[in-house]
Amino acid sequence: MSIKDNLLNIKDQILQAELKAGRKEGSVKLMAVSKFHPGEAVLEAIKEGQFLFGENRVQEACQKFPSIIEQNRDVELHMIGQLQSNKVKNAVTVASCIESVDRIDLLKEIEKQCAKIDKKIKVLFEFHTGEDSKSGFTDEDTLCQALSLCAQGSFPHIIPSGFMTMAPFTDDEKLIRKSFITLRNLSEKLCKEYNMFNLSELSMGMSGDFKIAIEEGSTLVRIGTAIFGERDYSKQ
Ligand SMILES: *Cc1c(COP(=O)(O)O)cnc(C)c1O
Repeated sequence: MSIKDNLLNIKDQILQAELKAGRKEGSVKLMAVSKFHPGEAVLEAIKEGQFLFGENRVQEACQKFPSIIEQNRDVELHMIGQLQSNKVKNAVTVASCIESVDRIDLLKEIEKQCAKIDKKIKVLFEFHTGEDSKSGFTDEDTLCQALSLCAQGSFPHIIPSGFMTMAPFTDDEKLIRKSFITLRNLSEKLCKEYNMFNLSELSMGMSGDFKIAIEEGSTLVRIGTAIFGERDYSKQ
């Protein structure tokens, strides 16, 4: 299957899942996760009208995306992987959103680096909902502290936009669903508590579990393998 066919196929599956869940058509955005795939694959997807991409490693993103964005102004890149503080400087030059904010120190560094280049950036707060995953805020109190700092105006270059999670890697649909429900409930609560922000983005669902994620309220699915094929980890 080509990238073109895969994209058509995934978009159709997203639509079916939206309808099945009684949600509005087009309420779920598709991100193409291009990690471990070359720039040519990204260009092929762009040709099919795909403009939102995700990468999890800063170095790879900075090799691939600046020239692509230069030539395609509609292309947007989100960083979705665990982010070390010393990589933030480069990450904020290439990305429009950091989806993997998992600690207050990271917010501080994002603010510092964005202030330097006078750029505003969206962030999602990653919350730990599945046993296998190592990333994300693990307790609600710390996440609330982070949001409170934002609300106090501590980070003027940061636009809090919602939440992200990764479900556990398992065949147990119940566990996956539970993970997505946890994030949705948290999101509903914090949207009310911090209503000075638009925290409506709910980034959840990957190639193997995006239909469940859409049933549970996802607004953004992050799809790699089902668009670009298996990743060859030996290459890099
Ligand atoms: C790699 C990755 C994805 C995409 O995973 P697939 O199973 O290939 O669709 C989604 N989200 C995050 C955070 C990732 O690291």
